[in-house]
Amino acid sequence: MTETMLAARMHDVSAPMLLERIPTPEPGPSDVRVRVKACNIVPNLANVLQNWTTWFPQNPLPSLPAIFGLDPAGVVDAVGTDVKGFKPGDRVYVNPGRYCDSCRECRSNNRMHCQNFAFSGYFGLTPSSGIMLDRYPYGGLAEYTIAPQYSLVRLPESISFETGARLGYLGTGFAALRKAGVGPTTTVLINGISGTLGLGVALFALALGAPMVLGTGRNRELLDEVKALDPQRIHTHSLADGPVDGWVKELIAEGVDVHIDALGPGADHSVFNEGLKSLRRGGVAVNIGATAGPVPIDVHHMMDQQQKLIGSCWFSAGEGQAMVDMAASGAVDLSVFEHIVYPLEQVNDAISGISVRNGGFSNFIISPS
Ligand SMILES: [Zn+2]
Repeated sequence: MTETMLAARMHDVSAPMLLERIPTPEPGPSDVRVRVKACNIVPNLANVLQNWTTWFPQNPLPSLPAIFGLDPAGVVDAVGTDVKGFKPGDRVYVNPGRYCDSCRECRSNNRMHCQNFAFSGYFGLTPSSGIMLDRYPYGGLAEYTIAPQYSLVRLPESISFETGARLGYLGTGFAALRKAGVGPTTTVLINGISGTLGLGVALFALALGAPMVLGTGRNRELLDEVKALDPQRIHTHSLADGPVDGWVKELIAEGVDVHIDALGPGADHSVFNEGLKSLRRGGVAVNIGATAGPVPIDVHHMMDQQQKLIGSCWFSAGEGQAMVDMAASGAVDLSVFEHIVYPLEQVNDAISGISVRNGGFSNFIISPS
């Protein structure tokens, strides 16, 4: 450890990041310092940097100049006096979700519902979440980050830092599958199956035993690549070949048990609705995608058919630990990703270059150290 570290910082909204040396931070009593080996560049980062203050002005970005970087993985380098269970040298993923432990929801053990919930290195989820961004201002696009011990996921030796840094979008899918109760008798429809979010949903739906995983997307080549992961259980459909619900009902007349929507920004609302129409009586829909704005939903039909629609955002460190333990045991295969690794010096190229990718298979990583 040196007294200063290299960090990529954004000084103005949508301005390119600048490489700067700043003091290396010290961990608080219940925090650890992590030497960042890999940090994911998620597909939505460019959108957030350019548009967040316009699209979601009620919720804060980190105070500028800010170190972004949502999904760091690395090696614990120093621990605070109250840290239990982690020590220097431990390989970890840092879940960026930060909660306050003092609001009513936190005190009721519902920390994912924290009234001040924020993503360190990304943005806040509520108008008051700036307090958590200020408390943890070090995103993953720097040589070191500071993370509370509650955020850590211990990485087994078999999980690379590049794969560990992918846990964020994977965890979003895993948590959605758990909320919907997916298991060995549950059929699952995934809108956007070939994207960064949707591919993770597919991998964990298979791992949880789903007998049929139906997926939609646009690019037929990518859909074929997804189907090849498990040709027996995965069925794919291009949106160019007709409505989703018509195709689903050809395969499963009564409809699917679970629909998980993982569509990207700007998706046509009709695709989301076709997913809802694909549900069986008693089915569950979970939205984790970027479909935005008022979607016309037939709530009377959902009432008659005893259906649920759930919003789900992110996942807990405990769920992250379950995921890597599943990978270590062989229950889920996380070897499908194609890592594209950049040094920290090329962070701006990485952010702008991510629009050219092989769907969800591509994994864009910054390696700061
Ligand atoms: Zn709270």
